[in-house]
Amino acid sequence: MADRDYDIIIVGGGPAGLTAGLYASRSKLNVVCFEKLAPGGEILNTEFVEDYPGFELVGGQELAQKFADHAQKFGLKIELEEVTEIRRDGDDFVVRTTEGERRCGAVIYTPGGTPRKLGIPGEQKYAGKGVSYCALCDGAFFQDEVITVVGGGNSAVEEGMFLTKYGTKVYLIHRRDQFRAHAVAVDRLKENPKAEIILDTVPEEVIGDEKEMKKLRVRNVKTGEVREIEAQGLFVFVGFVPNTGLIKEPVKKDEGGFIITDQNMATNIPGLFVAGDCRSQLIRQITNAVGDATTAAVAAEKYLEAQAEGKKLRAKAPAAAL
Ligand code: NAP
Repeated sequence: MADRDYDIIIVGGGPAGLTAGLYASRSKLNVVCFEKLAPGGEILNTEFVEDYPGFELVGGQELAQKFADHAQKFGLKIELEEVTEIRRDGDDFVVRTTEGERRCGAVIYTPGGTPRKLGIPGEQKYAGKGVSYCALCDGAFFQDEVITVVGGGNSAVEEGMFLTKYGTKVYLIHRRDQFRAHAVAVDRLKENPKAEIILDTVPEEVIGDEKEMKKLRVRNVKTGEVREIEAQGLFVFVGFVPNTGLIKEPVKKDEGGFIITDQNMATNIPGLFVAGDCRSQLIRQITNAVGDATTAAVAAEKYLEAQAEGKKLRAKAPAAAL
């Protein structure tokens, strides 16, 4: 049996991954967090966070940096490598990244998900030419233009509000007459003179010329009325698809494809723990991601202790003493 490179490998460096890393590092475990882009995850795409206790209003990027700095202070290694596969090998896991393979005793899986697409004609054609999935990244391109936003969750409502900074008009288009978004956020958007909410309506086609989007065709699902909204932008916030495809083991998922865990964040695969947005759960907030990640880190440590009692398994290098 080959030596382990790490006690724990954390896959994904969002709030959940960085919190798991903080706790595992404080326990003096030898732990690494692999993140393919930059630490922070989804909050890097959020202008402001105002529902993380203790931070009345904090920039998403600032909060991400604080999470990373805090975990690194206690010894977490953050490597910018993309994980491509996770598989079991005896009592170990082998985690393959773009840089090679590493062996560990437990995996904490926190890679979040990717934005769901609408799947309507023109969406793909005009991606980057009017169609976007990130207001913070692309909002400024729509200065003094008309913007459409699709979705009825917190992302659509909050990002729609953010886009009123740039657009002369922002239409929020939602397929029902009830929102998933927090009522306070919906009320705030309703009060914004640049915003107009269109309910019971679905987008049907993005229309444009060779260069860019010009209109969004929509249909009222109650009356059947079809109209074309002249707009240069379409921001899509209709949820996301959990990023679970890296696990080569038969991990249990719910009907939405989110990974099922027990109360200790343990999956049906021994040694594989999950926290954050790709876990099957009621809500996906920073607060519950960090709470669940704390549980995952402690549970992973206990799992390793139990395993080591019988097998005397150790990672090659101990964690840096602090
Ligand atoms: P979400 O809450 O799942 O909402 C997705 C919205 O898109 C729903 O309103 C849904 O409509 C609509 N939708 C889905 N498929 C559609 C389609 N094909 N065509 C048109 N509309 C469609 O997703 P989210 O807003 O991305 O939020 C994800 C999670 O992050 C949530 O738990 C959310 O609370 C959390 N979040 C929290 C904050 C915050 O608290 N500050 C900010 C952002 C996100 P139906 O309602 O009809 O299903």
